[in-house]
Amino acid sequence: MIQLPMTKRDYFEGYPQHIRDQVEQLIKSGNLKKHLLAKYPIGHQINSDKQLYEYANALKQKYMKKSPQIDKVKYGKQKDLVIDALGTHTFVSLNHGGKLKNKHEIRIAMSLKIAPKEMLEMLVVHELAHFKEKDHNKAFYNLCEYMQPNYCEVEVDMLLFLTLLDQGEELY
Ligand SMILES: [Zn+2]
Repeated sequence: MIQLPMTKRDYFEGYPQHIRDQVEQLIKSGNLKKHLLAKYPIGHQINSDKQLYEYANALKQKYMKKSPQIDKVKYGKQKDLVIDALGTHTFVSLNHGGKLKNKHEIRIAMSLKIAPKEMLEMLVVHELAHFKEKDHNKAFYNLCEYMQPNYCEVEVDMLLFLTLLDQGEELY
């Protein structure tokens, strides 16, 4: 496997060689930012934790009405920029008078405060889907694509976006 040039980490590890070749070409040509901007011209405007909660809750009410309520959604510091670290879901069990209570929380990386709206949507969709499916299996991806029809495409583009951030660049 070739190491992609000029990046801190290889986000495309494990991807098929033809995709890796395309990505390498895009980075080498210096057109990564242009490519992303053409595809994702608009950044999201969800800046506060309150807005983020309302956004996630609206998606949940639309597509996963029967799932348990989301307790907390907020931006937080994340060390490692990989998809499951960019957005994390936690199920906190609290002991309330002998009863176990599950709390569903979603945390989105601070670095995603400035990002394409489709990518924020993709992360929230990913974490919501984990409320129902713990693993990245077929049912999980089906649920993601039900909520965001081009989910898989945006997930790959998110890796390109992270590669751009690793180069010390910003999209908007
Ligand atoms: Zn996941």
